Amino acid sequence: MSGLPQLDDLEVAGRTVLVRVDFNVPLDGGTVADDLRLEESLPTVRRLRERGARTVLMSHLGRPKGKVVEDLRLAPVAARFGELLGAPVQAASDTVGEDARAKVAALADGDVLVLENLRFDPREEANDPEFAAALAGLGQAYVDDAFGAAHRAHASVVGVPERLDDVAAGDLLAREVGVLSRLLEDPDRPFTAILGGAKVSDKLGVLDNLLGRVDRLLVGGAMCFTFIAASGVSVGASRVEQDRVDTVRDLLARAEERGVQVLLPVDVVVTREFAEDAEAETVPVDAIPPDAMGLDIGPETVERFAARITDAQTILWNGPMGVFEWERFAAGTEGVARAVAAAGGFSVVGGGDSAAAVRKLGLAGQVSHVSTGGGAALEFLEGTDLPGVAALRKDR
Ligand code: ADP
Ligand code: MG
Repeated sequence: MSGLPQLDDLEVAGRTVLVRVDFNVPLDGGTVADDLRLEESLPTVRRLRERGARTVLMSHLGRPKGKVVEDLRLAPVAARFGELLGAPVQAASDTVGEDARAKVAALADGDVLVLENLRFDPREEANDPEFAAALAGLGQAYVDDAFGAAHRAHASVVGVPERLDDVAAGDLLAREVGVLSRLLEDPDRPFTAILGGAKVSDKLGVLDNLLGRVDRLLVGGAMCFTFIAASGVSVGASRVEQDRVDTVRDLLARAEERGVQVLLPVDVVVTREFAEDAEAETVPVDAIPPDAMGLDIGPETVERFAARITDAQTILWNGPMGVFEWERFAAGTEGVARAVAAAGGFSVVGGGDSAAAVRKLGLAGQVSHVSTGGGAALEFLEGTDLPGVAALRKDR
C-alpha cells in the first residue's frame, strides 16, 4: 500500500535484524512513565521473534547531545519492553562498542537486544559514515519502525539502510505512511481538515499542501487569530503573527479560488490574563475587547465545526483548538475531539498535542488513526519525502 518493502518479504530467520524503533519515552525517576511507544513497537518485534530473527533494537532517548547521560540510558526502557513483550530483553551499555558487539554475537534465534541510546554518540545525528557502517555491520537486515524519527537524516535512519541490501518498513511505519498517503493521494470526499495549535508559522507548509486537496478547512487554536486579522477583523490582544498576515491573506484568496470552504471561529473564549484561573467570557468574534485575548473557540463555533466534521468522509485534525491544558479553555478542543470520534468517516489525528488531547479524553479508540509521529507527520503532510522513508525504497 505504501510502496515500501514489507516486513513479510524480508528474510529474517537466523539473521541479525537491526530495527530502528522509537523508544523515546517519558521517564519518571528511572521508570517508564508512559508505555504507549513501547506497546506500539510490539507487533514488529513479535513477528520478528516468531520468524526466528535475532532482533537488535536501536533508539534514541531524550537529548543527551552526543555524550553519555546516566539518566538517559536505555536499560530501564529495555527492561520494561521485556515485561510487555513477555520475554527477556537484554541491553547493551554501548552502541557500536565492545559490549554491543559481544552481545550481538551471542544472540540466539528469537533473542532481543537493545543497543544503548544512539544519541550518546554525536555521530548518530551527524549521520557519520563510520558510525553508520559500524551500526550496519552489526546485522544483515534492517527494519525501520520509528516513524517519529523518519524526518531526521540520522545514521540509524538513513545511513544504516543505505548500507544494507535487505530493508523493510516495520508495521508501525508502514501504517503511518499508508494512512498519511491516503489523505494526500486518494481521500474520500468530502475531506475536512481541522487545523489549530500554537503558531500559524509552524503550519503554513501543511496548510499550503492541503489547500489543493481538502474541501473544507476549519481553523482554530492561536493560529486562527492571524486568519481573523487577515480577514480584517480586530482580535484585541490575541496572538497574531504579524509577519504572516499577508501570507494568510493570500492563502484565503487561493482557497476561495479553489472552492475550498474555510471556516473561522464565529465566537471565542477570551480573557485579560494568560493564566489558568483567569476569568473567561465568550464573545462574538467581531466583539473581542481591545485588551482581551482569545484562548479557545466558543460553543457556537464548535457546533458549526462539528457539522462539517460529521458529514465528512475524510477528516484530518492537527492542533488543539485552544489552551486545552487549562480546563477553562479546553471545551473547544474537547468538542472537536468528540465530533471527530463520533464521525463515521476515515479520521486521522496527527500532532503531539492534539494526539495527547484525544488520548486524555479516552477517545483514541474511536478515531481511525492517531499518528505517533508529531514532527514527522507534519513534514509528511507538507509533502516532504521523509529521508527515513526514502531510504527504504527499493529504487533508492
Ligand atoms: P500539535 O502538537 O497538535 O501539532 P501545536 O504544538 O501546534 O499542536 O500547538 C499546541 C499548543 O497550542 C498547546 O500547548 C495549546 O495550549 C496552544 N494553543 C492553542 N490555542 C491557543 C491560543 N488560543 N492561545 C495560545 N496558545 C494556544
Ligand atoms: Mg506540539
